[in-house]
Amino acid sequence: MMIATINPTTGETLQTFMALTATEIEHKLDLADSTFQNYRKSSFESRADKLLKVATILEDDAPEWARLMTLEMGKPFQSAIAEVNKCALVCRYYAEHGADFLKDRVVETDASYSYVTYQPLGVILAVMPWNFPFWQVFRFAAPTLMAGNVALLKHASNVPQCALAIATIFKGAGFAKGVFQSLLIESGQVEQVIRDDRVKAVTLTGSELAGQKVASVAGEVLKKSVLELGGSDPFIVLEDADLEEAATVAVEGRMRNNGQSCIASKRFIVVEAIAPKFEKLLLEKFQALKIGDPMAEDTDIGPLATPAILAELNHQVQKTIDMGARVVMGGKPLQGKGNFYPPTILTNIPEDSPAMTEEFFGPVALLFTVKDVQRAIALANNTSLGLGACVWTQNEKNIERCIRDIEAGSLFINDMVKSDVRLPFGGIKRSGYGRELSVEGIREFVNIKTIWQK
Ligand code: NDP
Repeated sequence: MMIATINPTTGETLQTFMALTATEIEHKLDLADSTFQNYRKSSFESRADKLLKVATILEDDAPEWARLMTLEMGKPFQSAIAEVNKCALVCRYYAEHGADFLKDRVVETDASYSYVTYQPLGVILAVMPWNFPFWQVFRFAAPTLMAGNVALLKHASNVPQCALAIATIFKGAGFAKGVFQSLLIESGQVEQVIRDDRVKAVTLTGSELAGQKVASVAGEVLKKSVLELGGSDPFIVLEDADLEEAATVAVEGRMRNNGQSCIASKRFIVVEAIAPKFEKLLLEKFQALKIGDPMAEDTDIGPLATPAILAELNHQVQKTIDMGARVVMGGKPLQGKGNFYPPTILTNIPEDSPAMTEEFFGPVALLFTVKDVQRAIALANNTSLGLGACVWTQNEKNIERCIRDIEAGSLFINDMVKSDVRLPFGGIKRSGYGRELSVEGIREFVNIKTIWQK
């Protein structure tokens, strides 16, 4: 994939970048490694001070960073602003709590003194996607740098200006140049970086295929990896749900980021007693959405990030329709410039169709009707993925049952799945492994070292 800024609203190529050469990569690895030797000895206070400065830079120039995101991948400008602010929040969160999360833990044993201490590992590689081009990076970088590691970012090829801007922000906050570097490289160059002895671990957010590739290379050289892959999150609506609220949140859950979010609500599993009413409400609310220029303030849905994402979504929808699904609305890309796909609802989903087995990365809601809660849970679990899930009900027994039986990294009750810096985030099954955010996130890339003194 060419490293380039291609405006998804117009299809225009705005800027292209050459991938780094082997010599340039070597130089960056060397700088990262030598910087780590000093940086690992820095105090939590000095790291926290710089992270707080990062937060200020993000907030002060939020429109500038937001504009870059919208330009490169098409998210509505207002959500890009919200994304910048969330990045500032995660920096402040780890600045405030990081030292506490990593403070030595004394353990009573037969020794005169024994404890657990958390030390940085070294250079950590992050392979990141375009869908939240700032957030995915800061979610990784804030805890990683707070722990005393240094970071290399291989960002998605369609958001190079975001990648460069992020490196500038860290440098502007006073971090030494080698603490956070952006590597403009192609995906084929990632393997050599993982194999390099100076790189100690890797984290990837993206597709299953990329996750498999990166994890297998990391496995071969026995390096730690964290994977945050796709999701096909169920949104279960039971008979006693507040339907109006559920449908309102369903729109946000499905449409946020033009539908391109790993934790988007993708499969709406509704019990039959209320299914017609829920479908009607969802249809009315989808029809009210405005699709158009993502820079415009009143736009709800912008273009999909790339022509390939659009083509893949179109293929999945068409195949599902050809196999017998009913189209409630939408179902075909919009004509004209840009990667625009309209809000779409499919129902009567056939067995073995893509809608039953694959993740849909765009503004397409898949509506399933089931008889009862037991079948709702069975269908929710009938996927190879297990990122998030939500259930809408007031019934305590059903809530407990969902908590016990739903196979996912998180369960939200009467709300949509969202990430919160204070709570761990990640999946099970083919959605990946490891956790980001909260105390669990900062402990992924550290040496949990046992100290024993006789
Ligand atoms: P990818 O997984 O291909 O891209 C994510 C990152 O991985 C990019 O930096 C990409 O680089 C890199 N990458 C891709 N292939 C390899 C490889 N073989 N070795 C090393 N690095 C690699 O996602 P796509 O953009 O292609 O999106 C496809 C699908 O992935 C979506 O439809 C969605 O299902 C899923 N996805 C999930 C996301 C999530 O948040 N969990 C985010 C984005 C996508 P490059 O851009 O240079 O190819």
